[in-house]
Amino acid sequence: MAADREIAAEDSIRVVCRFRPLNDSEEKAGSKFIVKFPSGPDDNCISIGGKVYLFDKVFKPNATQEKVYNEAAKSIVSDVLAGYNGTIFAYGQTSSGKTHTMEGVIGDPGKQGIIPRIVNDIFNHIYAMEENLEFHIKVSYFEIYMDKIRDLLDVSKVNLSVHEDKNRVPFVKGATERFVSSPEEVFEVIEEGKSNRHIAVTNMNERSSRSHSVFLINVKQENLENQKKLSGKLYLVDLAGSEKVSKTGAEGTVLDEAKNINKSLSALGNVISALADGNKSHIPYRDSKLTRILQESLGGNARTTIVICCSPASFNESETKSTLDFGKRAKTVKNVVCVNEELAAEEWKRRYEREKEKVARLKGKVEKLEAELNRWRSGETVRLEEQVNLQEIEAVTPVTSFIEEKPPAPPVPVAVAGVVEDAAMQAKLEALYQQLDDKDEEINQHSQLVEKLKEQMMEQEELIACTRRDYEALQGDMNRIQQENEAAKEEVKEVLQALEELAVNYDQKSQEVDSKSRECDQPSEDLQSKQSALTSATAELQQLRDLSAHQRKRIAELLTNLLRDLAEIGAAVGGSELDFKLNVDTVGKLEEEFTVARLHISKMKSEVKNIVQRCHSLESANIDANQKIEEYERTLGECRLLISQHEARCASLAESMREAENKKRQLEEAADALREECARLQAAERVQLAAAEDSQVRGALEAQLEQLRAAHSTQLSALRDELAALQRQHQDLKDTYQELTLARQQLQDDYEKLKREEADKSAKLKELIQSVERREQARADLKGLEDTVAKELQTLHNLRKLFVQDLQARIKKSNNSEEGAEEEGGTLAQKQKTSFLENNLEQLTKVHKQLVRDNADLRCEVPKLEKRLRATMERVKALETALKEAKDGAMRDRKRYQFEVDRIKEAVRAKNLARRGPQAQIAKPIRAGGGHLAGSAGAGVLQPAAAAQDIKRKSIIVGARDES
Ligand code: ADP
Ligand code: MG
Repeated sequence: MAADREIAAEDSIRVVCRFRPLNDSEEKAGSKFIVKFPSGPDDNCISIGGKVYLFDKVFKPNATQEKVYNEAAKSIVSDVLAGYNGTIFAYGQTSSGKTHTMEGVIGDPGKQGIIPRIVNDIFNHIYAMEENLEFHIKVSYFEIYMDKIRDLLDVSKVNLSVHEDKNRVPFVKGATERFVSSPEEVFEVIEEGKSNRHIAVTNMNERSSRSHSVFLINVKQENLENQKKLSGKLYLVDLAGSEKVSKTGAEGTVLDEAKNINKSLSALGNVISALADGNKSHIPYRDSKLTRILQESLGGNARTTIVICCSPASFNESETKSTLDFGKRAKTVKNVVCVNEELAAEEWKRRYEREKEKVARLKGKVEKLEAELNRWRSGETVRLEEQVNLQEIEAVTPVTSFIEEKPPAPPVPVAVAGVVEDAAMQAKLEALYQQLDDKDEEINQHSQLVEKLKEQMMEQEELIACTRRDYEALQGDMNRIQQENEAAKEEVKEVLQALEELAVNYDQKSQEVDSKSRECDQPSEDLQSKQSALTSATAELQQLRDLSAHQRKRIAELLTNLLRDLAEIGAAVGGSELDFKLNVDTVGKLEEEFTVARLHISKMKSEVKNIVQRCHSLESANIDANQKIEEYERTLGECRLLISQHEARCASLAESMREAENKKRQLEEAADALREECARLQAAERVQLAAAEDSQVRGALEAQLEQLRAAHSTQLSALRDELAALQRQHQDLKDTYQELTLARQQLQDDYEKLKREEADKSAKLKELIQSVERREQARADLKGLEDTVAKELQTLHNLRKLFVQDLQARIKKSNNSEEGAEEEGGTLAQKQKTSFLENNLEQLTKVHKQLVRDNADLRCEVPKLEKRLRATMERVKALETALKEAKDGAMRDRKRYQFEVDRIKEAVRAKNLARRGPQAQIAKPIRAGGGHLAGSAGAGVLQPAAAAQDIKRKSIIVGARDES
């Protein structure tokens, strides 16, 4: 930025002195208040130990913050906003009240120091300024500690370097700049910086007393109307304590710090001294970062105010004195202040024109002076009037010096012109300084890197620690897992052992199983053989059974044989043969009866089956019949509907016919009347012809006659047409009637057929019932038969016993009476026969038992069959009732049909009669429009008889109307 120094003015540094009250420790220590404030109008002098110091302003211990601000700092606000640079710094020993003066308690209206008040004031001023001004305010905050600049708004920037801008004004390169738009934002930034400062150090008071804090407010403004730009920098510096090292008793690092603090402070003192002397060619700004930063503030382009803070205690006397000396020295320093203005092109042009004009004027002046000089040199004396009036020219030319055009900073004291060596040295020095700056920058970058690396290292360390912890935890886990693993291994071993044992056991068991299965094989083989034996036995059994059946068959034969033998024996023995014959007969009869009974039963079975089948077929037939009946009923209903429709139509036709006939008769009557009239007229004509022979009248009459005739003929033809139409209708009706009768015939036929079917079915039913009855009978018979058989068998048994007893008795008798040798062979044969007979008897008893069992089985079956029979009977009964109902329904239908047919017939007959019958008393209906009253065909379906009555009623109405 090119700054114009047009309005530059010399301005000495303002020094104000502030004394704080005695603090508690000082009072405790019994320190005395050694400062005196001689009364004067300006409050600008103090005396300490007889020595008097003069400052721009002196603030007594009781001076309020507001007073200090108003009288020491307030003016700087308007300066900064007017485009000047400004600096306020507080100098003094630790706890002399520097921070109290600069910051105070921010936010407390009474206790807040210079910085917050300035900030508030700047914004208040801006708010009160013109609207066309645009402000850009940015702030930076950094501290200088051990000659390193640390950014308080970015903790990573720990070693910032100082550079010079193109106007050779030093600035802290890379310092964080925050744009702010309100006091609150500024205070937030300050708070942030302070908190960062707190983070960096453990002992805040220690640190604050050993470091310089710099708060920079940069105000740029632009006039939106003329693009005029102004800028002002305001440095607000709270310096470190200025006490001597020896006094603090610091050692080690602290000593180092103190040295550094004092180095920068002594550099500040040196710079001030150099500036105060005014004749030194070199000002040692570069000795420390602090003096470098404050270069513009000390002897440069800035309005600077130094607040020297002092303690009034006797304990701090020497410090206070040195502080006051510092202030005194600083007061002599002169700054050259000017507005930092950036001009627009127009302004530059204007200024250039002005300068050009000035140059031309001066040239003219020089020429005039040269001319005068030449005249003087040539020995002429120039008269007073002819001499150039310098004052005149001076008045015309404004007081502007070329000195102002010189490059601004640094305001190196004017070197002795013409000393080339010096210039060269200067240039070298500059170059070296430049290098120094670069090195500074490099250092800064390196230190930043170092800081970053440190941070990274910390992180890495943390990470390592973390990892170590993790590792330890993992190690523990691993140990645990290993232990677990060991335990698991043990377990596995045990399990394996158990498994081995199990395997051994298993082997043993399997061996056992093998042996057992081998042992088992034998019984299974045995079993198999037994089974085969069993099957063979069962086969044998079957055979035996067959054989027994066969034998049973043979029983009869055997029995007869036996009986025959017995008879023979009887004959031989001498008993009667009859008994045995009877026995033979009874047995034969029994056999026969049995067979008959069996046959009956089998027959009954088959019959029952047949009956059931028939019942089924009957049921289905009945269902069919029902369906058919329903169908017929439907068709019958349709037919009835048709018939009634036709009847209605017939009725209407008959009506119309009657009317036609009436018309015909009327017409005939009319014709007769006309004829009569004709005759009358002819007679009249004849009379008239005879009487007057009036041709005129005759003509008229003839015309009338003609008219009448024409009307008559037309009427006749119309009637004829009507008649034909009616006849056609009649024919149609006849046809439909024919059709209906045919349909009726068919229905009748169907009905007959149904009836026949029904009759068949009832006959079948009867048959079935009969068969069922027969079966019942047969069963009863069978029961009786069974009883008799049982009785007979019993008797047979008894007889046998008797017979055996008899036989035995006879044998005994014969043995007793004839003990002859001749009979020995006979006795043997008898014995054999007896045993044979006994065998046979046994077999017979077996057969008898079998028969009894069979009988019992049959008896068991009887109730089942009875139940089935009962069900069948019920079904048959239900079918019968259904059939009866169906019959009744059919009967009723037939009757209804008959009735309908009769009615239709009656109606037709009545119609015919009505058509034919004489109805002289019915007169011609007269109605407007020529329409005739007739029952409409679409009047609805009427019952035939009702329709006939209706016809009559209508006729009556017609008559009544005519009468009325
Ligand atoms: P420094 O910053 O110079 O080390 P401080 O500003 O911290 O000293 O002041 C030290 C103490 O003295 C603080 O407690 C402060 O409140 C107090 N103090 C300083 N100046 C005044 C004053 N003018 N009036 C009242 N108390 C003051
Ligand atoms: Mg302090």
